[in-house]
Amino acid sequence: MSHTSSLGINAFMAELIAKNPAEPEFHQAVHEVVESLDSFLDENPKYKHARILERIVEPERIIMFRVPWVNDKGEMCVNRGYRIEMNSAIGPYKGGLRFHPTVNLGILKFLAFEQVFKNSLTTLPMGGGKGGSDFDPKGKSDNEVMRFCQSFMTELYRHIGPNTDVPAGDIGVGGREIGFLYGQYKRIKNEFTGVLTGKGLNYGGSVIRPEATGYGTVYFAQEMLSTRQDSFKGKTVLVSGSGNVAQFAVEKVTELGGKVVTLSDSSGYIYDPEGIDSDKLKFVMYLKNTKRARIKEYADKYGVKYVENERPWGEKGEIALPCATQNELNEVEAIKLVQNGCYCVSEGANMPSTPEAVQHFLDKRILFGPGKAANAGGVAVSGLEMTQNSMRISWTREEVDQRLQVIMKSIHDTCTQYGTKDDGFINYVDGANIGGFVKVADSMLSQGAV
Ligand code: NDP
Repeated sequence: MSHTSSLGINAFMAELIAKNPAEPEFHQAVHEVVESLDSFLDENPKYKHARILERIVEPERIIMFRVPWVNDKGEMCVNRGYRIEMNSAIGPYKGGLRFHPTVNLGILKFLAFEQVFKNSLTTLPMGGGKGGSDFDPKGKSDNEVMRFCQSFMTELYRHIGPNTDVPAGDIGVGGREIGFLYGQYKRIKNEFTGVLTGKGLNYGGSVIRPEATGYGTVYFAQEMLSTRQDSFKGKTVLVSGSGNVAQFAVEKVTELGGKVVTLSDSSGYIYDPEGIDSDKLKFVMYLKNTKRARIKEYADKYGVKYVENERPWGEKGEIALPCATQNELNEVEAIKLVQNGCYCVSEGANMPSTPEAVQHFLDKRILFGPGKAANAGGVAVSGLEMTQNSMRISWTREEVDQRLQVIMKSIHDTCTQYGTKDDGFINYVDGANIGGFVKVADSMLSQGAV
């Protein structure tokens, strides 16, 4: 594959696309990184000579497998399982499992690629990986989900291990699924180890892990705001999604004196001008985590606006936290957000803003924290869970939360170090991409042809 240079990005991308056809999300994620790295690589030819970029876009290993399972009616079903082991230069592969009908190879490769940079930014020794299945947990009984998870792990177990590859949750994989997966791993291997993170507190999980991604996204926004002597106090905040990340983002924003007025799911969004306080958030958690129902029921219960098949970006707020999924905020919506007075976007989800939306935020010089920096708190606390498992100890809430805050601050510092432009503007996209790249690239250089 050809080297990049200011002229070479197009050629590099053309070759990548030819080699990895029909994977638009992967192309998008690589393109963003290559653009950020372009002049940095020109200034540091050692990375080009060692073909680091060409190697870093090639997964070390991809595992794809059949997942047969039997539904409650006794019918045979089959899904496809994946694990992308992207890069192990700085530690065991680490990254979540996603169960969602849209899951395919390209989406998981984009997520695994981003994970490499994100994990490097956390300062912890974790390589990058991602996996999952096109299985849809929605509408399935607990028993069906259990049988699926057991079948999935019956193949996956041989590829993972506490020193090899340590999966966690993502969309559609929460505490329930991690429990079923862990139980099956333990049964097959006859070993109680930290092979998964996001485990229940009774069997090796870490406090603050469920909260970590949402809290971390808010801590990152707080760091960005403090560069302008600003804070969440008195701000109106737009949040999308209503799953794990969104729920704890709402909790932390409220605690810091902000008011969250929106939440969404794949069917539409709710707008509550009074704000989603802690009682209403409890209802959201029951609705989404126990009843597993639609966010529309929030609007029915509290008599607020519900907009079907729309996303919340047309509403007014100073801060936006996209916490649902990739490409859920496009250019038109970005323009609208900024017009409506939004000046801080911190991405809880992975790649929720399209490239055009990101460009608009950068052009308008607003505070924009890309997912690989802003949502790294989840995997950071997963890293802390691995440490606690290895040491066979449990830290307190205060201890873990303190470490999470220190890590989010350190990620912000790294972004500032690598992303500050001549006029003082901090381009967090460049900062995260270059800052995440250096540690991995230097490790690859040290390790030879790997
Ligand atoms: P959950 O499954 O708990 O929640 C996902 C939320 O996003 C739900 O509200 C869901 O709505 C919505 N959503 C999912 N897919 C789509 C879609 N195609 N279109 C519109 N809405 C959608 O997942 P998480 O909260 O864990 O993950 C949310 C995001 O955060 C993802 O991008 C994930 O990769 C990222 N992330 C998660 C981390 C974690 O620790 N969990 C760590 C770092 C990043 P519905 O219920 O209708 O499907």
